[in-house]
Amino acid sequence: MKIDRLRAYPIAIDRSEVFKIATGSSLTAENVYVRVDSGEYTGWGNSSPNSVTKETTESILKMLRGVQGEVERSDVDIEELWGELSEKHPHDPSALAGLDIGLYDLLGKMEGKQVYEMYGGKSRGVITDRTIGIMRLTDTVEHAREYVDKGFTALKIKIGLDLLEDIKRVAAVREEVGGDIRIWVDANQGYSVEESITLCQKLADLNVEFVEQPVKEEDLEGLKRVTKESSIPVMADEVMKDHEIAEKICSEEIADMVNIKLMKCGGLTGAWKIVDVLEDYGVDAMVGCMGEDVPAIAAGVNLCLTTDRITHADLDSHFMLSDMAFDGLEFKGGKLWLSGETGLGIKVLDDKLEKYHMDLEGVV
Ligand SMILES: [Mg+2]
Repeated sequence: MKIDRLRAYPIAIDRSEVFKIATGSSLTAENVYVRVDSGEYTGWGNSSPNSVTKETTESILKMLRGVQGEVERSDVDIEELWGELSEKHPHDPSALAGLDIGLYDLLGKMEGKQVYEMYGGKSRGVITDRTIGIMRLTDTVEHAREYVDKGFTALKIKIGLDLLEDIKRVAAVREEVGGDIRIWVDANQGYSVEESITLCQKLADLNVEFVEQPVKEEDLEGLKRVTKESSIPVMADEVMKDHEIAEKICSEEIADMVNIKLMKCGGLTGAWKIVDVLEDYGVDAMVGCMGEDVPAIAAGVNLCLTTDRITHADLDSHFMLSDMAFDGLEFKGGKLWLSGETGLGIKVLDDKLEKYHMDLEGVV
């Protein structure tokens, strides 16, 4: 594949409301959109700065600027390029993800196919949850009701700051939405091992489907202990960055499930490497997100369609934005549907790119 030009667009869009989790809160989502051109075709990806990989808008722009020469050439093989860049830039997985996603969008368009079609997937809607940040009990219940009324059949409740209050919040949501709505929880490393074990017992009674990353990411022994003691599945998230750690988590039974985020693992290429490991061990995954807009979310949907190992999807960050710079994803009947257009199935909205553009130095 010949790449004529790589460009990056830093964008800041306010969220509809402050999003608070155990490790911090934010009102604005910054994204870097990555554009790759080949002749008449254009592919779009997006990188999302985040605290898990410790990347910023500036670091993402710097990485993309640094690799421009390697990308703009006549014989780009995505996997090969990904291998080179992931080795040279091990601390820039989100920057790499934006590029990788853009290249797959471009490849699909050039081949006249949707991305999942190129990798043997079949079309279907993907059930996504809707995440509720850390907030007061009454607000938590109000948000849960609103999302269920909008058609969501799964809710992910953020917890991790106050054990007793968290259990009350989850119980109140269960009572409000009834038994048919799926409830997932994410502690974002907020608890000790002992607290996590207590938490899991209580959540099992509330028919919670799984708990995400209850303990600190570096505490693998602790996570393994919680997994062993818990009667509900425990999912590794912050610690689950690439296929090498996936191998360790699966082989040592550190967690029951893993959360694959394109921003942590360098995009679709990195995600498929993780899926290969999960296949070997028969471990299931959720595909998650950071603060990304439609391109990376559409990539997540495409990823889901290429494997049965991804049984859960938490692809909702675009719903939290007050506006979006891309079109192409539809939410209907509790599921995300791709547009059917080639590539990722998305369309850029030029006026929005202009409107939310961040005026920064060193843009590629
Ligand atoms: Mg998480």
